[in-house]
Amino acid sequence: MKIETWNEEETREFGRKLGKEALPGQVYTLIGDLGVGKTVFTQGFAKGLEIDEPISSPTFTIVQIYEDGRMPFYHFDVYRIGDSSEMDEIGYEDCVYGEGVCLIEWANLIEDILPETYDEIKIEKNPEKGYDYRLITIEKREK
Ligand code: ADP
Ligand code: MG
Repeated sequence: MKIETWNEEETREFGRKLGKEALPGQVYTLIGDLGVGKTVFTQGFAKGLEIDEPISSPTFTIVQIYEDGRMPFYHFDVYRIGDSSEMDEIGYEDCVYGEGVCLIEWANLIEDILPETYDEIKIEKNPEKGYDYRLITIEKREK
C-alpha cells in the first residue's frame, strides 16, 4: 500500500491510523533518511495506541518503552547498534515476541534477527513534488 502526504499533519494522522489498527505482537520497521518524518510518523502512531507521553528519540538508549497506552509500545532506534548480538542485552526478544507493538527504526541493521513476518514502512521524499511531499509505502514482509 502507498499513500502520499503533503504536510507533517497528514503523516502524523496516517501514523495515528496505523497505531489504532495495530495488534499485540505486531512488528513494524521504519525506514527513511534523516528528516524525512520518522519521528512525526511515530508520534502519530503512539497517539493511535493511546499513549499520552511525548515520544522522544531512543537513539542513545536503543529502546524506549511506553506502557500507558492500550498495549505496550517498544520504540527502537538501532542506529547505534554494533551488531545484532547487542540486542540480546536490551531484551529485544522479549519485546518482539511479547504482547506489545514494536516499531524499529534502522531495522536494516538487524535484519538477521527480525521476526518471520513484519510490516515495513518506508518514507521517501520526492523533490519534484515539493519540499513537504512524502511517499509512504507499507509492505508485509515474510522472511
Ligand atoms: P526523522 O525522524 O525521519 O529524522 P522528523 O520526523 O524528525 O524526521 O522530521 C521531519 C521534518 O520534516 C519535520 O520538520 C516536519 O515538519 C517536516 N515535514 C515536512 N513535510 C512533511 C511530511 N509530509 N511528513 C512529515 N514531515 C514533514
Ligand atoms: Mg527521528
